[in-house]
Amino acid sequence: MAAIVDRIVGRNLIAGHWLVASGDRFESRSPANRDEVIGLFPSSSPSTVEEAVAAARAAYPAWRRTSRILRAELFDNLAQLVKRETDNLAELMARECGKVITECRAEVIEGLHMIQYVFGTGRMPCGDVLASEIAEKDAFMRRKPWGVVAVITPWNFPFAVPLWMLGPSLVEGNTAVFKPSEDTPAIGQRLVELFLEAGFPPGVINLVHGDGNVGEALVRNKEVNVVLFTGSWEVGSHIQQVSAGFHDRIVAAEMGSKSAVIVCADAKLDLAVNAVLISAFKTSGQRCVSAGRAIVHESLVEKFSQALVEKAKRLRIGNPLEAINFTGPVIHEAALNKIEKYNRLAREEGGQMFLQGQRLTDNGRVNGCFLSPTIYQMEARPGVRCIREEVFGPHLAILPFRTNEEAAQIYNDTDYGLSMAVITEDYRAMRFFREECEFGMGYVNLPCIGAEVHLPFGGVKKSGNGHPSAAGLVETVTHKIAWTVNHGQEIKMAQGLTTDVEG
Ligand code: NAD
Repeated sequence: MAAIVDRIVGRNLIAGHWLVASGDRFESRSPANRDEVIGLFPSSSPSTVEEAVAAARAAYPAWRRTSRILRAELFDNLAQLVKRETDNLAELMARECGKVITECRAEVIEGLHMIQYVFGTGRMPCGDVLASEIAEKDAFMRRKPWGVVAVITPWNFPFAVPLWMLGPSLVEGNTAVFKPSEDTPAIGQRLVELFLEAGFPPGVINLVHGDGNVGEALVRNKEVNVVLFTGSWEVGSHIQQVSAGFHDRIVAAEMGSKSAVIVCADAKLDLAVNAVLISAFKTSGQRCVSAGRAIVHESLVEKFSQALVEKAKRLRIGNPLEAINFTGPVIHEAALNKIEKYNRLAREEGGQMFLQGQRLTDNGRVNGCFLSPTIYQMEARPGVRCIREEVFGPHLAILPFRTNEEAAQIYNDTDYGLSMAVITEDYRAMRFFREECEFGMGYVNLPCIGAEVHLPFGGVKKSGNGHPSAAGLVETVTHKIAWTVNHGQEIKMAQGLTTDVEG
């Protein structure tokens, strides 16, 4: 039976008004217990999306003219609220998306770091003073906001990823319409409630709930200047195609991956095993940067695989509210089905199966989407799908290599390029992989997960279109103007251009 206690009432926020829609609604259910309903949320109509964009547009001029420092100080208010709410936010996130409570807490802290970073930038330069060929001329580069930003986010980082986008956008003077994932609407709504409590004026941040149709309506709205999207490649590339029809549309798309850990012949075995376990199975493999591949030197592959499989069998998978668990469930039944399809594919494509992922039922006590890890070994071959496509689940291929050149070639042999870790003591090998592999985030003697907000977060190829998220996003949510002022009494031009106006 569905639990009915503490259900959240889903509401959209438009121009500072909370609206409980009378039309269609959808449920948010806990993936750890499908009988637990977190809340009921409005499936926003196209006209609601239009109203939200119009509210953001109407609020834009006054917000843009507000002192940058005052805008930033609202983020200081928000930081205090997030500190006050850290435990509640983490618990809600664990219930709604199934990540273990310790991970959820870390995500809230990551969101807090983004808020603190943004507050700090309030008093930092918002342009550059540049030299001019003309001594009497002062030249500047200044940043200006674009206008209205649409923020469309995935379920797996429902708090930090929206803040990576909303933080730089709003402090720079843009206004926003935020559409959280339909799988995590409650945490998205809670974040917006905190923005309001922090004192952000009506219309500066608006919230519309719903699925891909609502995202699509936002993307098709010509009043949206910038789309900040994080999610799958399929959706991200569709958004880029739709947006190509808008003459001044900017799209930042952070998308999927087939990340990997490269384990060199000189790797410390324990470190390598732990790095791969964390990379592949933390969050049940549902991080964008999760490793779907361990590329292991042939001299080490047997020992490595044995140690990895032994430890993987012992990973604690269970209730996300219990900190002792290593990981929780996958997000929903459709995800379970997709991962199982790839597990079967790995066998069909010739994988030597070491561990077969099983649905975990907790003896029937909990109706959750729990799945244990799949690990297999195969030689990398052209055209094999299971070692190239994103699975987004606890699914790991061990791929032996003989030379560093071959390891880099295997790493690059996928359409994605997001995260890469190399486990080695050899500084020449580290540099070789840094230069030869196509990725956005690289790690040495670490797992290939673990972002920090002041570093760029983005990828190449199908993983991203060159607008890294978090701190680096200021480049995307502003445009640069040149501003030059003559302090002389006459006109002097660069490049020796003559200023004679009489013949
Ligand atoms: P998804 O692509 O299914 O959905 C992401 C968001 O897009 C959701 O809010 C969804 O409602 C919306 N959407 C769907 N169709 C749309 C459309 N036609 N127009 C506009 N919006 C639409 O992704 P997901 O399942 O929520 O998340 C998992 C994916 O996200 C994985 O591929 C993962 O690798 C990726 N991801 C990437 C990063 C990164 O920074 N590179 C970070 C987290 C997740």
